[in-house]
Amino acid sequence: MRSLVLIGHGSHLNSESASAVFRYAELLRERGLYDEVIEGYWKEEPALRQVLRTTASTDVTVIPMFISEGYFTETVIPRELGLGHQGPVPPEGVARVLGGRTVRYTLPFGVHPGMADVILARAREVLPDAAPEDTALIVLGHGTTRNENSHKVIYSNADRLRESGLFAEVHALFLDEDPRVGTWPDLVRSRRVVVVPFFASEGWHTLETIPEDMGLRGEVTEFPDNPHGPQTVFYARPVGTHPAVANVVLSLAEEARSAGGRDGDVDRTHDAAWQAMMALARRGGRIGEVLLTPHSGVYELRHALDEGMGGAELQTVVTPEGLRDVTRRDAAGEHRPVRTYRTLPRGWRAVLSEAELRRGVHFLYPAVVEESYAHSCHSLRHTPWPTTARRQTGIYTRVQRATHDQVERVARTVCSPCLRTRLWAGEKLPRTFLDGVPGAFPCAEACTYFVAEVRETLISKRPTTAS
Ligand code: SF4
Repeated sequence: MRSLVLIGHGSHLNSESASAVFRYAELLRERGLYDEVIEGYWKEEPALRQVLRTTASTDVTVIPMFISEGYFTETVIPRELGLGHQGPVPPEGVARVLGGRTVRYTLPFGVHPGMADVILARAREVLPDAAPEDTALIVLGHGTTRNENSHKVIYSNADRLRESGLFAEVHALFLDEDPRVGTWPDLVRSRRVVVVPFFASEGWHTLETIPEDMGLRGEVTEFPDNPHGPQTVFYARPVGTHPAVANVVLSLAEEARSAGGRDGDVDRTHDAAWQAMMALARRGGRIGEVLLTPHSGVYELRHALDEGMGGAELQTVVTPEGLRDVTRRDAAGEHRPVRTYRTLPRGWRAVLSEAELRRGVHFLYPAVVEESYAHSCHSLRHTPWPTTARRQTGIYTRVQRATHDQVERVARTVCSPCLRTRLWAGEKLPRTFLDGVPGAFPCAEACTYFVAEVRETLISKRPTTAS
């Protein structure tokens, strides 16, 4: 048995931020090469601190879904996963045994040599007959003076594609460092120019900054008066959203495993947690705001306040992904980065098979089953606020200066809509939803949303609404 974990950044504000990682997880699940494919996030749930606990096997490969090496892949993710590694990740990855699981952590997908093929695939989408006689390729990166790694990957892909001989010229250009994208009319001589953004997703840069800096007006733009004569620019979509990235992810995962090792076993604690959950499901009951009812081999989930409503009055979803998508936003359409907030929208029902129920509940309340079970076994370790604060780096370092009173004031605002009980602050939770108390979920450690709110409070010195 083996598990694949994809790590994305996620967002406290934008529910679309995690979409690319969702899509890759779905593509990889369809391939069926791993017993499970799970997503984890820095700014959403399951959080990096929780995600390993949610894997069903003792053999776990973790892929950072990032376009280049840098602060997140070298500092934040290894630290939050508890890998005991900081700094550049070696080409063979980092392997550790954590809590009985063998965990392999790889380089981010963006630095894999297979990304040159993805660039090529994107270029061919906009210009299928690109030819070495008259076509230039621009591989366009963000670049930054603070992270030299982010440009290394652009140069190495440009070199690889130059060597392929498929283009008359290949250039590496950047938004934030030299050579800058705005200089392209002076640098590029070919009549036809394909621009491929080496970005993880579609967003502000690919939709606005790059077209603006290059003077583009859509997928194809004519430039009749350029210094080297008339030129046509073909603007491709970002590499990070191409389906072929799934192949790159699988290659990375297989290379990490080829260093040795055999398939893992079922993780016994995880299995026991889900046995307890299934016992609740089979007799029917509540989990958080959701009513779970068994119906001859399938399970129906709906908002508890929708109890008694006819099926025709509710939107019916029949997959775990469908359940995820109807519960990602609240009734007002706002993103729900903390999935245990009492903001679950109403008006839907999910009908899932027993095989799908685990993934459905995982999407609904990530890590809650595993953490509640661990709490009832007295094995859920709490991390007090000072320890969480000391671990923060980068822009979050300042939360170490928050006083106890400031932290508590933030908690009165941020944690009050949350179903979780703050064990990290000394609150008590004698029973959990597994013991029949629907809204009783443990919170072992302040979430990243809470940490971000503490930082905001310190920056703005704003009073919290609770103060
Ligand atoms: Fe909920 Fe507060 Fe825990 Fe975050 S820190 S999960 S808001 S209880």
